[in-house]
Amino acid sequence: MISLILQQSPAWHLGSVMEGFKTIIEPFKIKTVEPIKMTTAEQRKVFLERAHYNTFLLQSDQVAIDLLTDSGTSAMSSDQWAAMMRGDESYAGASSWSKMEDEIKSLTGYAHILPTHQGRAAERILYGYLGGKGRTFISNTHFDTTRANIEFTGAEAIDIPVPEATHILENHAFKGNLDTVKLKKLISEKGAESIGAVILTVTNNSGGGQPVSMANAKEVSEICRSNNVLFILDACRIAENSYFIRLREKGYENKSYRDIASEMFSLADGAIMSLKKDGLVNMGGFLALRDDQLSAACTELLIVTEGYATYGGLSGRDMEAIAVGLKEVFDPDYLHYRIRSTAYLGERLRNMGVPLIWPIGGHAVYVDARSFYSHIPVEQYPGQALVCELYLMGGIRSVEIGSVMFGKYDESHQLIPAPMELVRLAIPRRVYTQSHIEFVLEVFEKLLYGREKVKGFEITFEPRFLRHFMARFRRVG
Ligand SMILES: *Cc1c(COP(=O)(O)O)cnc(C)c1O
Repeated sequence: MISLILQQSPAWHLGSVMEGFKTIIEPFKIKTVEPIKMTTAEQRKVFLERAHYNTFLLQSDQVAIDLLTDSGTSAMSSDQWAAMMRGDESYAGASSWSKMEDEIKSLTGYAHILPTHQGRAAERILYGYLGGKGRTFISNTHFDTTRANIEFTGAEAIDIPVPEATHILENHAFKGNLDTVKLKKLISEKGAESIGAVILTVTNNSGGGQPVSMANAKEVSEICRSNNVLFILDACRIAENSYFIRLREKGYENKSYRDIASEMFSLADGAIMSLKKDGLVNMGGFLALRDDQLSAACTELLIVTEGYATYGGLSGRDMEAIAVGLKEVFDPDYLHYRIRSTAYLGERLRNMGVPLIWPIGGHAVYVDARSFYSHIPVEQYPGQALVCELYLMGGIRSVEIGSVMFGKYDESHQLIPAPMELVRLAIPRRVYTQSHIEFVLEVFEKLLYGREKVKGFEITFEPRFLRHFMARFRRVG
């Protein structure tokens, strides 16, 4: 009787076992621990200098709280570790592959599943095949590896987020949405036959981890269908996106998170997913397609570079962990804790006066470095300055998502800045506890004082693609 009442209560469905408390307890106990090495301010200064002020070039044991990325940094559950022992390492037709394939087929409804070692491998295969000079790809926002894989083929990648996405302080339920008015215009300008694909990124990673509504996905789907343009979901964080849909979009209050995700997959022609995000594993990805011919062409490329069609660069044990992870990620208690704990960090920072993208997205908090360090011009990368200060002050590793990552140069080598100068604090899944987050808050509190003395940076070395990974910096002045 009691369980019946609980199940009928909508709050229960959102996943909030401890209703009525302020403290969000982690819905897990810790069985294995990994030590964090503490460092002194003096040590961190030396480490950062040696890393040329690029936190990607730091050693992980020089970092106390690693908020560089939520990608591949999840803690696996005891069920996932147990499943790994059952890994079938056969070259072809492994039972572990069947488990992964079945799970993805039943979630997505697509006929063809191609395993890859991570998301960008799937991107290179699909966009390498569809791309080339004169081709155009359109997205709410292309993630950096997506854009790089497209541009590498000579094609162009155009971002058309809704205007609300750039009003970074305004409340809006679905800032991740794609601007469908611009989409129609672009398709008719470029000609439908020149469009490689329309890519809807859920949640919109580079745009602040903001969700995409089902209504928007439906509209994009209809526009693509009526123009005969391929519609691909970048589904890296589709479970987190489903949480926001259930919470904010009318008509989804009583649907399960997994059903919401399945409905979104049903609207597209295919999907790419990095399982290092909502797959709750440390390595893995897939490309999933409806079309037989497109899938056959991609499978050929898969075998040339990734591996045979039943493992694609993954070991049997990886595929076992993926099959379990894709179930666990839709658990209401997990998703509630996940989204609420990210919001906790954001809400507290905002109360402290730290300028942020609002509302808080799913996997990360994005600090607006341009207003945090308003005295540093964009040509001197205020985001990179904040990344460095967070490390120097508290050993916190974060990443700049601004003109270091997305800046370009015009003919006279003048910087064309990115639309926003952000610093991302990405939260690894099931890794840090509330006291780690309290520590991050304290570091920010200290950084708020003496902000105006912090100096910007110039780039001393940069590679041609994805420059933020390897770039080197020097402090200005
Ligand atoms: C991480 C990510 C990718 C690329 O996946 P990798 O596994 O890192 O290669 C693509 N798109 C989005 C939105 C991502 O977040």
